Amino acid sequence: MELLKGVHVIETFANCALLVDDRLILVDTGADGGAKDVLGYLDRIRRKPTDISTIIITHTHPDHVSGLAVMREKSGAKVAAHRMEADYISRKKPYPGPPGIQRHKPVDIDILLDDKQRFEEMLVLHTPGHTPGSLSLLDERRKLLIAGDACQTEEGTIGPMDDAYNIDPRMHRESIKRLAQLDFEAIIVGHGKPLATGQSEVMRQLASRL
Ligand SMILES: [Zn+2]
Repeated sequence: MELLKGVHVIETFANCALLVDDRLILVDTGADGGAKDVLGYLDRIRRKPTDISTIIITHTHPDHVSGLAVMREKSGAKVAAHRMEADYISRKKPYPGPPGIQRHKPVDIDILLDDKQRFEEMLVLHTPGHTPGSLSLLDERRKLLIAGDACQTEEGTIGPMDDAYNIDPRMHRESIKRLAQLDFEAIIVGHGKPLATGQSEVMRQLASRL
């Protein structure tokens, strides 16, 4: 679905975001079947996988990263992730979470991102707690926050992720408080519906209760 002009949300087990300008930026790649869903979506909007110039991974959980090997191969895109998450995505380091969670095909990261860096005309925010190197992206031009699993909207409004999936629940909440200081209208999360307006105010109200 097209949330805003040029901002598409591809619903796989975890949502992927697709930013469409003259070239495409894909954020996250879904679970095992995710690449098929993304390729099908591209076909429907009459774009080619090779139109994707950059794939950004928010974090290394299997429902966000399992489609990456296929998407990289089909697109030839550069892959970017936070510096602290890169070695889990390439599987050079074992993920410190529950055993068995790291089961995707390893992919090397081309571009290591840091907190507060500008990348692809967005602000990179390190939002740890769900995983060590979780990142969120603020697209100021579109007033859009792509939060990955820094929060979720499964009950129709923004809330923290279930702590069963957070490596550091306290830090996860600190990251939500940090996101609440930003100015945006729309939000795309990994789990739950994307929301189009008024969402930084909702995030501020959530942060005040944490
Ligand atoms: Zn996750």
